[in-house]
Amino acid sequence: MIVRRRWTAAATTAILISAVLSHPGSGSAAPAAPASPITLTATETALVRVQLRDQAQLDRLVATGADLANRPRTRDSRILADLVLTGAQLADLTAQGATAVQIVQRAGDGSRHFADSVRAAQTRTRAGLRAPAADQRTTTAAAVDTLQVQQAYWWTASGQTFLQAQVATTATDDPDVEITVSWRTADGATGSFPLYRFEDSGEYQYHYNLPQPVPNRPVQLTATSSLGGTSRTVTPSLWPNATPPPLPAGYQRDFIDAYLTPVDVQARIKRLARQYRDLVDVIDLPNKTQGYRRNAVAYLGDPAVAAVVVESVRFGDQGMNGVQVRTVDPGRRNRPLTVKYRDRVLTVSLATDTAGKTVSTTDEVAAAINARQPNRFRATVEDGSTGLPMPVAGPARLDDGLQGTEVPAKPWTVQALRLGVHRDGSRVGVLAYSQEHAREWATPLVTLEFAERMLANSRTDPATRELLEQVDVFVIPTVNPDGANYSFNDFNMQRKNLVNHCAGAARDPKNRNSWGVDVNRNYTVGSYFDGYVGASANCLSGTYAGTSELSEAESRNVVALAKGHPNIKFAMNVHSYGGYFMWPPGAYRADGRVTLPRPSIDESTLFLNSARRIVGAIAQERDTVTWPSQTGPVADVLYSAAGNSADQLYYELGIFAWDFEVGNDRWNAATGEWEGVGFQPPFDEAHAESQEYAGGLVELVRVARDYAAAESATG
Ligand SMILES: [Zn+2]
Repeated sequence: MIVRRRWTAAATTAILISAVLSHPGSGSAAPAAPASPITLTATETALVRVQLRDQAQLDRLVATGADLANRPRTRDSRILADLVLTGAQLADLTAQGATAVQIVQRAGDGSRHFADSVRAAQTRTRAGLRAPAADQRTTTAAAVDTLQVQQAYWWTASGQTFLQAQVATTATDDPDVEITVSWRTADGATGSFPLYRFEDSGEYQYHYNLPQPVPNRPVQLTATSSLGGTSRTVTPSLWPNATPPPLPAGYQRDFIDAYLTPVDVQARIKRLARQYRDLVDVIDLPNKTQGYRRNAVAYLGDPAVAAVVVESVRFGDQGMNGVQVRTVDPGRRNRPLTVKYRDRVLTVSLATDTAGKTVSTTDEVAAAINARQPNRFRATVEDGSTGLPMPVAGPARLDDGLQGTEVPAKPWTVQALRLGVHRDGSRVGVLAYSQEHAREWATPLVTLEFAERMLANSRTDPATRELLEQVDVFVIPTVNPDGANYSFNDFNMQRKNLVNHCAGAARDPKNRNSWGVDVNRNYTVGSYFDGYVGASANCLSGTYAGTSELSEAESRNVVALAKGHPNIKFAMNVHSYGGYFMWPPGAYRADGRVTLPRPSIDESTLFLNSARRIVGAIAQERDTVTWPSQTGPVADVLYSAAGNSADQLYYELGIFAWDFEVGNDRWNAATGEWEGVGFQPPFDEAHAESQEYAGGLVELVRVARDYAAAESATG
């Protein structure tokens, strides 16, 4: 990718943070690992695993709309959170007691992995539901507590057996209670490990552990607490204990050769529609997005001294890229401040005093431009330049700063694929949609692999053909194409769309990588505007909710498709990363942590039992088992996400609406650590994710078929 222009100011002081990576569960006796310095310049952005000082620091981050990549984990009494941060933000956090532990991914890694994936493609020959914690809450200060084992699950993956438990103590308000789990295997081996306290929004939830390796199938598990409490002994259950039908001989798969940009996705949709004419409709969703476009902008003056930010009212590609702006000294005494636009040059002639010295301030220059040229230009005083003398400066060239060259600069039509033999609303509908978040590059690979598997195999595999006879499948591979284009071409960590609702100083181009709306916080149910947690009113926040519910074309498109096809009963919102499988409720109010209504017992059972089937199907590919601790309602297993689309589909339209976070942590047997994969892993990993989660979506289609059959059987 050719770098044509850069807005980022030259990197300033490097911030050096040294971190010690410790081994899990090894306690103080373990030799310290060598210190590994983590460096990030003030303006550099990276995905960083950070050890937070305490729960209060985490709660503050969530409340202020921090860009959390997954759920913070407690391990060895440390709270670890994956955050997208600039060096300056990291320095702030560090000053408040946090420690950087690992750089998961730097801005720029994505482009390298994208290039690698294209090269690879060129050389390839293709061919538990838990009881609500509130029920167990007591306010007793008794010396001895009672423990309840809420979950105890084991599974084997790639030859290694793992055990995970979730235990609640009645001493909910004592942050120092230590809970230890002891286990015994079928062949008599024994061992133990500590659990860690999980609080959310200031409320005790339970104690749990990351999956622990054990030598064999565990048959007994008991929890004890430092207050003397003991649980009943339980037999851990097999997780997920569901296996999909085996793939028939000749089953076709692996239709993904490289990361796909929105332009590539569009081409793929077109090809599938042509190749499988009898089984496919392409639906143009009704709300065109802004497109890969931005206003053209320039600093008039030097931001380090005194400057005014001048931007075009129209987008740069609408004739405004290259327009020049300057201030001049009229060279005469007692002149007024004037503004003139001629021949694509905006000239501001500064006012002079009786001695002929220029006297206009930055504020006066900005006000004069706004007053005289309101239809062409918007001017704001650069942050820190207020009231300063305006220098003679320029000419500066306005530019939209966009580096992508293959992307058409016009409003974008988001497309959905509709697959099925009967695409008339008579069959139960399943909706799979991905890339609401621009940087989650593996997610459209999942939905497109799924779509092509269904189509290709419907010609060769009777079971797949039967699924497409019974189910009406809708797929939106890229909900947020403008943000995705920006992620591929300009700033790989881009999460939001490309619409800039900022005003005033926040429009300074130094903030260009922080503009946009979080599409998955812009829906109407349990929204920020309703007082729910996990979204922000700050236009620069990673979870900015927009100017109002459904202010964005991207979210309106998802709602329009679901509303326009009332036969849709199941939906999967595909995100990355972390390995989660979730369903409503996805949000709660801060005060008292009151969630959206819990599903009924029957619906909860359907959510969980279907989840186990789908988790089993995902594991069929390369033994990736989504942890029981990460399978459940969003508000319980991840964090509150105000105004998300799954809640919209479930509460507003009665759709069984799930979320995937593809990209499960990988077990490193050598270090005994679970390792995060990030948003744009090397292509081999993204490819593997597409294969395993496409299998999960096929199982979702079977779930829908079985649901419809049961419904019609009971009338
Ligand atoms: Zn996401």
